[in-house]
Amino acid sequence: MNKNYHIVTLGCQMNDHDSEAIAAILEKMGYLPVTEPEEADIIIINTCAVRKKPEDKVASLLGKYAALKEYNQNLFVAVGGCMPQQEESAIYLKNRFHHVNLIFGTHALPRLPELIHTAKEKNETVIDIKEDYAERDSLSVIRKSTFKAWLPIIYGCNNYCSYCVVPYVRGRERSRPMEVILAEAEKLAAEGYLEITLLGQNVNSYGQDLQNQKTFADLLFALNYIEGIERIRFMTSHPKDLSQKLIAVVQEGKKVCEHFHLPVQSGSNRILEKMNRRYTREQYLDLVKNIKETIPGVAITSDIIVGFPGEEEEDFQATLDLLERAYFDNVFSFKYSGRKNTAAAGFKDFTTNKVKEQRLERVNKIQQVISKDLNKLLFGQAVEIMVEGPSKNNREILTGRTRTNKLVHFKSHKDLTGKLIMVKITEARTWNLFGELV
Ligand code: SAH
Ligand code: SF4
Repeated sequence: MNKNYHIVTLGCQMNDHDSEAIAAILEKMGYLPVTEPEEADIIIINTCAVRKKPEDKVASLLGKYAALKEYNQNLFVAVGGCMPQQEESAIYLKNRFHHVNLIFGTHALPRLPELIHTAKEKNETVIDIKEDYAERDSLSVIRKSTFKAWLPIIYGCNNYCSYCVVPYVRGRERSRPMEVILAEAEKLAAEGYLEITLLGQNVNSYGQDLQNQKTFADLLFALNYIEGIERIRFMTSHPKDLSQKLIAVVQEGKKVCEHFHLPVQSGSNRILEKMNRRYTREQYLDLVKNIKETIPGVAITSDIIVGFPGEEEEDFQATLDLLERAYFDNVFSFKYSGRKNTAAAGFKDFTTNKVKEQRLERVNKIQQVISKDLNKLLFGQAVEIMVEGPSKNNREILTGRTRTNKLVHFKSHKDLTGKLIMVKITEARTWNLFGELV
């Protein structure tokens, strides 16, 4: 009889990609994928520790799986990724959820097969949260998509923004050698992939730890020559070290998409300093101006944290003011969530949850008007989109993305999934656009 696996992925694109590696490991071990946890013999939760919310989700999922285990004694449950990479969390998971068979951190992927074997033999929870930066370039992956692919270029982060847990759970920066990345991109092109998204907590740091002094701009420049790849995306850029050379490569490089995800976090210099972001609002706004002037039609998106410890109404007003000035295409906003071991965990946080909620709403209210206004600029234009698939409710409505990463819906009798096509924009909404095939 076949054995089945089910993976739940929380958090960012890097986690999504790690789950593609976990899928490949499990399939090599003879497991087949299932969408329902009830049908699985092994369930893996790939966790996120960036905020409290995804951590709470892990607890609720594990509660459900405990119930499943009552019916299926042999069900194997594992929790991996960023959350257990912090020792306190690993111990909490082990003590609170006795039915978990295996707890593994972000560095344990290459050891996963043997860890599963050991945990199956033992009658107790096995834990591997060693921070050994195990070599993982030889791991294969099973990608969800056949036309777009994640391509990690740098692991870890050295920035230590005071609110952020990432440097603690993903370790120091490690750039993958340029030849390895180029070879992987060539292989993806040969397999028919049209789009690659280069991943890193801060792609601008790429190469700083390598011998040959290559920069992220050099890497993008080289990738641009790979035949078959039509679109190159990248995320995330840290504003403090986004170079002029990078802006030039995005402008010149035909395949490099005109989109920057450039998290600002706050518009108040006082808060930015406490966050250890190492730029001022003036520098940030200059950078945005520079990007917009150099690259016509560019899209810029951002992240905002509201209610950082000590954020007064005045600081928050400065953030709202920055939103008006920067005029982002879209913004992802988050309530500050205290994370253990980070510097900000020691800061006094007097802002009530109610005020944080209100600030979130105020950000969203302003941003919605701006997003819609910018989307309206596309009205009547013909734009290239990459078709991602039919919509869930109506198979005749397909969804694609512009080079600037905006969602476009359009009608088609043919399934054009995975194709690059032209669409004329007929309606602009806040979160998406509607169009018709040209
Ligand atoms: N490396 C990326 C992303 C880090 S996490 C970067 O530097 O931008 C993604 C987003 O989560 C961050 O941009 C930030 O807005 C948010 N975030 C990180 N830590 C947080 C915390 N403790 N509370 C609330 N939001 C947080
Ligand atoms: Fe976290 Fe800052 Fe690193 Fe981004 S740059 S991962 S926010 S520490």
